[in-house]
Amino acid sequence: MQTLVQFVSVCLAVTSALACSSGSSAMPGTPNDCKYIANSTPTSTVSSEGCAELTFDVSTCLASREALGLTGAWLRFSCRLTLTKTTKNGVDYIVITTDNHPQHKSSYYDPADACYKADNADKSFNTSRGITASISTATETMEVPLNPVGKDSSWTEVGKGSVGVAVDGVAILSPLAGPDSWTGFLAGGGDIWNELTTLDRCKGHPTPSPDNFYHYHSEPPSVSQDDSNLIGVLADGFFLYGRRDSGSSTDVDTSTFSNDQPIGHVGVTADSAGQSMFHYHPKQFSNSAKTSSFYSLTGRYFKGTASSSRP
Ligand SMILES: [Zn+2]
Ligand SMILES: [Zn+2]
Repeated sequence: MQTLVQFVSVCLAVTSALACSSGSSAMPGTPNDCKYIANSTPTSTVSSEGCAELTFDVSTCLASREALGLTGAWLRFSCRLTLTKTTKNGVDYIVITTDNHPQHKSSYYDPADACYKADNADKSFNTSRGITASISTATETMEVPLNPVGKDSSWTEVGKGSVGVAVDGVAILSPLAGPDSWTGFLAGGGDIWNELTTLDRCKGHPTPSPDNFYHYHSEPPSVSQDDSNLIGVLADGFFLYGRRDSGSSTDVDTSTFSNDQPIGHVGVTADSAGQSMFHYHPKQFSNSAKTSSFYSLTGRYFKGTASSSRP
């Protein structure tokens, strides 16, 4: 919030709209500007591939979220997502509605689109799978438990399709592509190793046509770059943070988390008001040849019970 307040005050102090943009993009609302980035502001943290970490404006939705009784991490989700609450069989759920458009520009928009930005993503592999169109609007609704309950055993596998939502509204997917299995992936195989070169500079790409919906499998640098930022929430209601714990200057050693268990631990987070709670971290996986690696946003198992209400 501090960054946001500073940004707004700088904007008020200057007369040129472009002068108060901290990135190369024009002010929100400027003609020809990308309509999906109005709720985000680039920071000076930029990945080697040119993806700026963003801060997300929550000012216009904060009151309505607090009115729902939401606290902590839930108040960090961009206003581009809609959060409501429902109760089923006595259990409270947060209903997340998103259109899956990222809040950064991507080479997976049409070059004529204001949201297009060129990069080195390898399109040939995706084209062979039928990704020929621009990222499309794919409105998704996911219900996640407001008060998740972790299990100590008998965990359920994280499946395919959307298994969580990032703070910028983009779907989180596991590392499993169409034909893949957890056994094969954990042995260092699977289609994901072919797909890594297809990711845009902010580590996202769309699904094949006709869906073309944008998603992440790995740590999204627009949200978190080797830090303790909130990345999102998984379908079981537990939050996913960056590679570090809050206040730490070193990464959490996820190599100590067995792949036969959920990839996370119990501890205090920046959003938990001093309470210890289970949370996930990305874990680095390598292919069997050890020639490629990435930080997967999920491991094999959910800690809690994932809602069945998800795409
Ligand atoms: Zn994918
Ligand atoms: Zn942690």
